[in-house]
Amino acid sequence: MAKNGPIVMGVIKPTSSAPPTARKIAEEGASARIRVPAPIPISPTSDVSILREKPPQIPSSAPPRIATLYRARKGRRARGPRQTMTDESVSILVVDDETRLRETFHFFLTREGYAPVMTASGYEQALTMIRSEKIDLIISDIVLEQSSGIDLLKYVRQNNLDCPFIVITGFPDVSTAAESLRFGAFDYIVKPVEKEALLRSVRLALQQRFLEVGRRQAEEERERYRLFLDAVFKSAGDGIVIIDEQHHIIKTNEAAETLFGELLPGLGIGSTLGSEVADSSFATLRDEDGIRGFFEEQFPDAAALIPDLAEDFLQRPIGILGTVRCRHWHDRGNVLLLGDAAHAIVPFHGQGMNLAFEDCVLLDRIVREIGNDWPNVFARYEAEQLANANAIADMALDNYVEMRDTVRDPKFALRKQLAFELERRVPEHFIPRYSMVMFHADIPYLVAQQRGEVQKALLEEFTADAANIDDVDIDAASAAAARRLPPIDSIRNDLSVRKS
Ligand SMILES: Cc1cc2nc3c(=O)[nH]c(=O)nc-3n(C[C@H](O)[C@H](O)[C@H](O)COP(=O)(O)OP(=O)(O)OC[C@H]3O[C@@H](n4cnc5c(N)ncnc54)[C@H](O)[C@@H]3O)c2cc1C
Repeated sequence: MAKNGPIVMGVIKPTSSAPPTARKIAEEGASARIRVPAPIPISPTSDVSILREKPPQIPSSAPPRIATLYRARKGRRARGPRQTMTDESVSILVVDDETRLRETFHFFLTREGYAPVMTASGYEQALTMIRSEKIDLIISDIVLEQSSGIDLLKYVRQNNLDCPFIVITGFPDVSTAAESLRFGAFDYIVKPVEKEALLRSVRLALQQRFLEVGRRQAEEERERYRLFLDAVFKSAGDGIVIIDEQHHIIKTNEAAETLFGELLPGLGIGSTLGSEVADSSFATLRDEDGIRGFFEEQFPDAAALIPDLAEDFLQRPIGILGTVRCRHWHDRGNVLLLGDAAHAIVPFHGQGMNLAFEDCVLLDRIVREIGNDWPNVFARYEAEQLANANAIADMALDNYVEMRDTVRDPKFALRKQLAFELERRVPEHFIPRYSMVMFHADIPYLVAQQRGEVQKALLEEFTADAANIDDVDIDAASAAAARRLPPIDSIRNDLSVRKS
């Protein structure tokens, strides 16, 4: 414990060589969460992305409309969902020349919750309905006026209507059974038809139908996705190369062929990629020869300047870029963490050192205000700075994603253009977030983050239907910015580390 004043620490590591107080805080007080961003993919032939061939991931989408069949019994509906299917209603067509049978089937089925249940007395009437309605299931007697149920089944199959078909007959025989089977009837039920047998067959037939509909939808979706990928593949400005596990080139797009022609002549479909796709990151370097060879090939000027290159390299393991979020930056007025020890952030906004300087400026200001009441100084310092540190930690990660994903998106460029225009027109209300962070030390990080969210929504809203800046209603966007964002002067602070 310090006798003459507090210790202000800029580093803390729970190693055995760290000072005991630091070790104690690391072990007990400072609970840190490390977040490591995904590595930036770098390929040795930097313009060529390498994809390994994988079956496309079909986005799982819920069926377009979900309906549920309900069981109805004795006039009461719905004892709960019995079967889920991909349509709102199930239309069943019952075809029989016997009025009594039609009505009985209609009664059984509607009581069971199926709707609509349509009926036809003969072949022609059934055809009219089939041609004009969406039918999910046909139940037909073999004996019909004008024609037969088998003819109806043939019509259905010959016209590629894919609804299941249940054949009913009062005169079972081998030839009608065989024909029913040949034309894909779902069931062949002999009269007198038991209610339970009918309902069971209907249930199974509909289940099969909806499985089939689901399978077809998935296939269509897969095909749409394949066409989409194909269009992206063909039109991409970047070279795309698809290889198999053995690095054989299976497919290349036009841009890759051009690049190969210029950079790696001789490579193309059928040839094998070797050193071009070898993993050549620092993480793969294990021995002195490998290290020296890598540096001589990739960084020859640096290699010449580092005499003990391999030894130095092996002694210093590759670090990670991470985010440290922790609270309790101080301990009873004796110890305070500043800088990376309290709040290391990834370097994608270039603000880590700056944040450490802002820590110092803030601490200095508080000490001037309340003197050497260290517990209170430290508590106030943490209370003021923690939210800012978290805000810039978030924004540094955002910036990584922005650099990685969006900079080549034309919409991104358009939003940037609009942001600069709004800054020009209403500078007291709108400053692009990147500028607030980088060039306005008087705007706390937390404020930059919060205003940034409002600004982002505004930019998205006013560029949603625009292809270029002429399509944007800039007067309306300026008015909205003035309305939604309070004047910036009201929130400036007195930090002066970041330069404007
Ligand atoms: C790749 C990269 C790029 C960056 N770019 C920028 C940028 O452009 N702009 C910006 O503002 N910031 C940037 N930063 C962040 C910036 O470097 C750090 O935020 C800043 O160095 C933190 O300073 P510090 O004094 O808190 O910690 P450090 O600079 O890490 O100082 C801690 C010191 O303590 C020593 N130490 C460690 N353990 C012990 C121990 N047990 N006992 C005694 N001493 C110990 C270390 O050797 C070190 O010298 C970048 C960081 C990285 C990694």
